[in-house]
Amino acid sequence: MLRRLLTQTSSPRRLLSSKTPFFSKPSLSPFSSLPSSPDPPSSASSHVEESGSSAAAGTTISVDRSALFNPPDHSHEPTPDSELVKHLKSVIKFRGGPISVAEYMEEVLTNPRSGYYMNRDVFGAQGDFITSPEVSQMFGEMIGVWTVCLWEQMGKPERVNLIELGPGRGTLMVDLLRGTSKFRNFTESLHIHLVECSPALQKLQHQNLKCTDESSSEKKAISSLAGTPVHWHSTLEEVPSGVPTIIIAHEFYDALPVHQFQKSPRGWCEKMVDVGEDSQFRFVLSPQPTPAALYLVKRSTWATPEEKEKLEHVEISPKSMDLTQEIAKRIGSDGGGALIIDYGKDGIISDSLQAIREHKFVNILDDPGSADLSAYVDFPSIKHSAEEASENVSVHGPMTQSQFLGSLGINFRVDSLLQNCDDEQAESLRSGYWRLVGDGEAPFWEGPDEQTPIGMGERYLAMAIVNRNQGTPAPFQ
Ligand code: SAH
Repeated sequence: MLRRLLTQTSSPRRLLSSKTPFFSKPSLSPFSSLPSSPDPPSSASSHVEESGSSAAAGTTISVDRSALFNPPDHSHEPTPDSELVKHLKSVIKFRGGPISVAEYMEEVLTNPRSGYYMNRDVFGAQGDFITSPEVSQMFGEMIGVWTVCLWEQMGKPERVNLIELGPGRGTLMVDLLRGTSKFRNFTESLHIHLVECSPALQKLQHQNLKCTDESSSEKKAISSLAGTPVHWHSTLEEVPSGVPTIIIAHEFYDALPVHQFQKSPRGWCEKMVDVGEDSQFRFVLSPQPTPAALYLVKRSTWATPEEKEKLEHVEISPKSMDLTQEIAKRIGSDGGGALIIDYGKDGIISDSLQAIREHKFVNILDDPGSADLSAYVDFPSIKHSAEEASENVSVHGPMTQSQFLGSLGINFRVDSLLQNCDDEQAESLRSGYWRLVGDGEAPFWEGPDEQTPIGMGERYLAMAIVNRNQGTPAPFQ
């Protein structure tokens, strides 16, 4: 089946240039930095045609600074406060105390007026970071293979809601639709629902999916790529249920807010964001239990004794747990499955929150709204949340991205694309392939050391949540 899908996947439309920056988010430990990539973006432009519920602390809290962890470095010159900084400071002031790291993260990323994602395209060489769909067309194509396999296991329903959470530029969906275009019964069954909070990115997705508006509503259109209806929503809850469903979440969970806890002589305390006397943001520890502690207790019941013994810091994401429950309930009652791919761990996360601006790690508290914030995904917490929410689902994985793409046959795909391309395209295909499945620093790299490509194959993990009626999804058998 996989082999047939791979040979029928349509010919390449876009190949990666070797100048594409090789920086992706989790390549270094938090707070360290990498030089920026000087070259212009090329992945999106080098197209070729050829024959082939946050439990944020809402209560007023007085602050104990005695156990301050990791004080931020504010060595930069003071600059006038941005709209978002003013907003955050006013929230802290009127609340009468600091806000949780989760609330800070949520405001920084998705504040409707000035959140990081809300008003611009943040991807690629001229943005802040690059993701797998932007690295190579093969990524979206392989997700297409996964989706068609699941649709077959679902009994080839005539109508399917294909939901993507956080589609970015829409590149994954474009490659998925192009790659599966020969499977007319599949593409004709699709109703695409894009869950995207950013009006700017919704517009870009509309453009890249070559949509024409069906009615006066901008929230509903037809993609001319496969004649498929496309709808936009800002949350998963808004997507109509009652229809067999396939959900894709690539690099979505890492953007969901996390609460951070730290062990202190007083026990576990939540790390909070406050404004100091110098008017700069700083971290402080909450002196008393916060509402998110309930989620900490829940998470700790899923931790192994070894994990519990070693931990000094814990990061938890109630929003991720709640989202997973919503996904599992939907899949449990409507049928289908969800695929989650992200960087993270098959274990509890201690302290991973990081900020990235222009391909460099920067201080989390520095000029909020101008850098991406993201955290490692806690895969066991997703598994347990799904199992808790519905008896009708089974959870598979996580497995590494390398195993996932390898078992789906990405090596056959790259070989078939290499049959019909020029030298530059071949080089770009090989480096894109290595980037998706490789690990550590690229052995073939001859450019400057500081731009050495870092493989995503081992650090990115894939997990599936499927309705039990569907059996075990490929390639988790
Ligand atoms: N999946 C894409 C983009 C990843 S970046 C890729 O791999 O290239 C995260 C995406 O999720 C962006 O599109 C961002 O705007 C969206 N997003 C982040 N937080 C969100 C939220 N709370 N609700 C809806 N969309 C969100």
